[in-house]
Amino acid sequence: MSITKSVFEELDMSYDDDNIYFQIISAVLDSAERLDLPHRLKLMMAQPKNEIIVHFPVRMDDGSFSLFKGYRVQHNNVLGPYKGGIRYHEGVTLDHVKALSALMTMKTALVRLPFGGAKGGVKVDPRGISPDELMRMTRRFISALGTNIGPDYDIPAPDVGTNAQIMAWMADTYVNISEPGKRLGGAGVVTGKPIEYGGSHGREKATGQGVVYVLEELLPDLGIDINRMSYSLIGFGNVGSWTGRLLHDHGATLKAVMDHTGAVFNAKGINALSLNAHVAEQGGVAGFSGAEPITESEFYAVEVDVFIPAALEQMVTEEKARLLRCRVLAEAANAPVTPSGERYLVEQGVSILPAILCSAGGVTVSYFEWKQNRQAELWDPEVVDQQLRKQMVAAARRVNETARLLDCALRTAAYCAALDYINKVYNLRGIFP
Ligand code: NAD
Repeated sequence: MSITKSVFEELDMSYDDDNIYFQIISAVLDSAERLDLPHRLKLMMAQPKNEIIVHFPVRMDDGSFSLFKGYRVQHNNVLGPYKGGIRYHEGVTLDHVKALSALMTMKTALVRLPFGGAKGGVKVDPRGISPDELMRMTRRFISALGTNIGPDYDIPAPDVGTNAQIMAWMADTYVNISEPGKRLGGAGVVTGKPIEYGGSHGREKATGQGVVYVLEELLPDLGIDINRMSYSLIGFGNVGSWTGRLLHDHGATLKAVMDHTGAVFNAKGINALSLNAHVAEQGGVAGFSGAEPITESEFYAVEVDVFIPAALEQMVTEEKARLLRCRVLAEAANAPVTPSGERYLVEQGVSILPAILCSAGGVTVSYFEWKQNRQAELWDPEVVDQQLRKQMVAAARRVNETARLLDCALRTAAYCAALDYINKVYNLRGIFP
């Protein structure tokens, strides 16, 4: 029996090979086995510390009421306050949020940030409700979470379907429901806020910027020149569009993009800046005049040096992986490849740059924002970029070095580097009392 199955049985948790939480924890525990880490650490990694589910009513524009379901899962806080995004999407489930919270624990540990891992979400299609309804729902969700979040305890951030405006509503709500003595500094309860209200320069582009810094560091070893490479993107939201816009400055060729509205292709290269303007106006890539429409299967089959999923989890199934023609897959999204998709790609010699490294730029600049909030400062954009580069390059080298030492794939190396650090901190702190 696999280590994960025996740990799940010990914890009386049911499992299923197709379940995303089971898949993520399996990869984490396999790495813990490889390092021969203590059994108690495996138990702690297998089960989040807190799983909060809230149901709350919201008054809709037509006067009726709708009931919403929200989640906040706090996976681990041995390194510091819980940290992780909040997602608005109709497909949000408890197991998805649990899986993403565990990945956050791995991510912050790999990058050596003083945070633990968490994730949250509301089951809603944010495009399907009005801006006023979105604001009331956001405020009601934050008031339902109450003291389960806080600038020293658990600090949410944007994720799929949420943005700086939504973070501003969250911060304002938290400040308004806090005791008067705790209001100063209350806006530090979330990161990814607008610059005018406690945000940081560089936070909006941070995850895409982090992807680019990781590519700059790792692609030369894989024989790819970032300035001349071709690539394709799934997702052209925050992470996908910023990755595209920043790679545009490098001169790389964006051959194909797919989002929830369709897929487009241009062999000579899609201009990411023009595509960004189109998406801002039309809501998706479909209908972009600088490229031709293609089907989903054609999109996956476009030959590129680097394939970058920057949308949702588990999109690259084995069936999709069999269509891919790339040398490197850079996980800008969290958990975009299923285990069977990954097995197939690895057999084909495709290098997979893991999400806990590639997509760590967002939480890293969130950390800078949190620091700036605590010091009532605003750093210059150049300082943010310089600090982000330093942190991402160090993490990329840590993963490469661990892969060399352990003779393993980059994902295993990234988890090992994260777990080893968490284990050291547990050993230093001991277990209370
Ligand atoms: P977003 O909401 O800004 O964009 C999501 C994109 O995914 C959109 O382009 C949407 O069209 C696309 N998409 C949704 N469903 C799709 C489908 N069925 N097929 C194809 N495309 C689809 O979200 P984001 O913030 O860019 O997040 C993208 C990924 O990056 C997620 O996995 C998220 O967890 C991860 N991530 C985000 C951040 C951040 O700072 N925003 C940080 C780290 C990781």
